Amino acid sequence: MTGTPTLKLNDGRALPQLGFGTWQIDDDKAADPVRTALDIGYDLVDTAAIYRNERGVGGGLSGREDVWLTTKIWNDSQGYDNTLQAMDKSLARLGRDSVDLVLIHWPCPAKGLTVETWEALVEVRKAGKAKSIGVSNFREEDLRAVIDATGVTPALNQIELHPGFQQRSLRAVHRDLGIVTQSWSPLGQGDAMDDPAVEAIAEETGRPAAAVILRWHLQHGLATIPKASSRDHIAANFEALDFELSDDQMGRIDALDDSDGRIGPEPSETN
Ligand code: NDP
Repeated sequence: MTGTPTLKLNDGRALPQLGFGTWQIDDDKAADPVRTALDIGYDLVDTAAIYRNERGVGGGLSGREDVWLTTKIWNDSQGYDNTLQAMDKSLARLGRDSVDLVLIHWPCPAKGLTVETWEALVEVRKAGKAKSIGVSNFREEDLRAVIDATGVTPALNQIELHPGFQQRSLRAVHRDLGIVTQSWSPLGQGDAMDDPAVEAIAEETGRPAAAVILRWHLQHGLATIPKASSRDHIAANFEALDFELSDDQMGRIDALDDSDGRIGPEPSETN
């Protein structure tokens, strides 16, 4: 695997730090942007059962087993048996015998099935259907619940994280527990590039604003999975690997944090 830098997971595996996100890309259109991303050099692709594009994403991978593939168990598949079945269905759609990583998509605390669902993923890993297992949108209490119940710590937690919502306290929890943080909506769904501080740093570095933001994620030791549709955007985002931000530039983006800046759902309210 890989031209991109990697982060070591607590199961010993090496996770490519920059990958390609595929939310809101339709199944019948997904193969092309995935192929473009691989052509540019990406070696990680992120999908989910609920994106309803696993067939297209799998097609775009064109048998490239060396590309890291992540999928996720949707909320209505939580519970032990349901999760095992959902995993098999995802693999069938993806056209693979295994994925590199499978995540519980949301904790859905009201269902009370978080621990059972995690136990199923432990079984999925034992069966060789996923090489690594992790979670998404988990709060500290969700993380501690699954670890306490099983003794198995998720390899990563994929969470909303962008300059306008930096999740510093959860990142500190991850550091203490040995969990890698992977940022979703790393570009604030496209809005983060319009910030004047980001625009100024793009001007100073001569790099696209999106690459500046992604570079900020990488220099903080975060993994991330920007989504883009056009070849130009996909390539611009990959430029994040080619330059460095100074401490001063990092600090100016750090200063954009806003505890009210969440764009997506509040994890405690998911069901
Ligand atoms: P992003 O923060 O990645 O932003 C995507 C938006 O930014 C799109 O509108 C895209 O436009 C635009 N964009 C991308 N690159 C550029 C560029 N270089 N210049 C200008 N505009 C650009 O948002 P997402 O919400 O898609 O998050 C990324 C991925 O994270 C998802 O695709 C998914 O894989 C994952 N995710 C996970 C969640 C979870 O609950 N675990 C929740 C949400 C996302 P265009 O398409 O036109 O290029």
